[in-house]
Amino acid sequence: MLWWALSIFFFWLGLREIYYGFIPRAGFDSPNDVISKPYVLTTFVIAAAFAYMPLRYWAFERFLTEKAIILSESSKAHVHCNTVFDTMFDRQVFAAGHAQIETGRIVFQHPWCGRLMDHLDHPEKMTREGVFSIQIFAHEAMHIRGERDEAKTDCQAIQRYARAAQLLGITSTTLAKENGMFYYTQGYQDRAAIGGMTGQYYSDQCAPGKALDEKLPDSTWN
Ligand SMILES: [Zn+2]
Repeated sequence: MLWWALSIFFFWLGLREIYYGFIPRAGFDSPNDVISKPYVLTTFVIAAAFAYMPLRYWAFERFLTEKAIILSESSKAHVHCNTVFDTMFDRQVFAAGHAQIETGRIVFQHPWCGRLMDHLDHPEKMTREGVFSIQIFAHEAMHIRGERDEAKTDCQAIQRYARAAQLLGITSTTLAKENGMFYYTQGYQDRAAIGGMTGQYYSDQCAPGKALDEKLPDSTWN
């Protein structure tokens, strides 16, 4: 909202300059002699710069929503990227993301949408945050698909990680699976070691051939 407000303000400054080039100001008989083109150009450029960020995120939310609907097999799915302010006032401020099964609403906390955006530009870098950001997307989509149990949800997401990565534009199957296996062999196993709250996301049955294996044809661990 802040970015939009600043953008509108600078846009208004530019428009006002043009307006007074044709219409006299209050108390004046004639309009301004000249419209300052550099001034108008500068204000419009600043206005566009402030609008760029929210527009970029708006487009990314639409993109994520479209993919979440496919992955979750639920037309209710929709994705929101929290700003810093949204995150501060979010009751689940310490979770990287959360989902509400009833409404289909998926929320990414700040700065996880940005991390996902960066990662999709360079998935080959396989940064920890980047790899995790796709897992968050897949995990929340599995909640919307109907699963509430955290361990089962995370395991379903792991098996669909490669599918999710490809939906999001990582065209190479090999790279999509490498990303997923990076999460499975490192981040996921860390959850078991850390235990506590984090451990609720882990099950030793989440492995090829074990109880939680859904034997998907495009499974990450195939
Ligand atoms: Zn969850």
